[in-house]
Amino acid sequence: MTATTPMKMETSANGSTTRVEVSSGASRDSENTGFRTTTPHMLKTSKVYAKRALMGGLSGFRSPVGMDRRDRVQAMRTGDIGFVHSWDINTSVDGPGTRMTVFMSGCPLRCQFCQNPDTWKMRDGKPVYLDDMVGHIVRYKDIFQSTGGGVTVSGGESMMQAAFVSRVFHAVKKEGVGTCLDTSGFLGRSWTDEMLEDVDMCLLDVKSGDEETYHRVTGAALAPTIEFGERYARLGKRIWVRFVLVPGLTDSVENVENVAKICERFGDAVEHIDVLGFHQLGRPKWHELRIPYPLETCEGPSRELKDRVRQQFRDHGFVVY
Ligand code: SF4
Repeated sequence: MTATTPMKMETSANGSTTRVEVSSGASRDSENTGFRTTTPHMLKTSKVYAKRALMGGLSGFRSPVGMDRRDRVQAMRTGDIGFVHSWDINTSVDGPGTRMTVFMSGCPLRCQFCQNPDTWKMRDGKPVYLDDMVGHIVRYKDIFQSTGGGVTVSGGESMMQAAFVSRVFHAVKKEGVGTCLDTSGFLGRSWTDEMLEDVDMCLLDVKSGDEETYHRVTGAALAPTIEFGERYARLGKRIWVRFVLVPGLTDSVENVENVAKICERFGDAVEHIDVLGFHQLGRPKWHELRIPYPLETCEGPSRELKDRVRQQFRDHGFVVY
């Protein structure tokens, strides 16, 4: 999911829906401290988000150098290593409280409004050892516990590296760290109920409400998202639904109604729905990667449109932000 200073905007729970993150390339600051503080460039792209986020590169992580390809593939299968794009610390963006958000590499979808096409390919991430990732998260457990926060795994698609992410969650939960998956649910079948037991809550993207529109938006099928949401809800878990509002693409009354009906199938698990207005802050990444950008001239939704869509969800009894 998730400009040369890598940034992610798709999944912000706040109204501005902007995220800034830092890639595995080491910055001068991150080499010294493990953190990278806000730069003027980031502020320009994300005044709201950058004020309350610390961005971290991956320069402090050991890299499995010397491992031959076969061993590396095996280590991925077992979850001993995972390919990670970047991480950050944020507040009230990717779940409750103060959170570390870890962005995994690799995604099977190709959303027209993707803000993070640089996370699509797993090989573009950096291999990180399981123990290093767990240690890095647990380091912040006091602040997580005092704020009701925890770790959110995002992407890319957070469920793609199931072995690694589920083992990270299992380990950090033992240390009292709350866990959250930011996902489209498309790969829900790759996670067993036992693995999902370690997932406290999901930020579930319902990108459209009918098969045709969903396929146009993502290039993939809608059914796996519904199937995953229903199964996760049956486990008694919490869901925050996210819906990206793109004028001319996802904004029809029918499409929004269908999204609301899907959310109703998740029952009481849905705590609220975030309506995230599309914006163009991710456009430079498409250009930089030389990927034809289908929403080149698309503008964000008007206030009136956002109000209409939010009211549609409220009419179905949902709490909407
Ligand atoms: S799910 Fe869609 S928006 Fe998220 S990373 Fe994949 S392509 Fe991008």
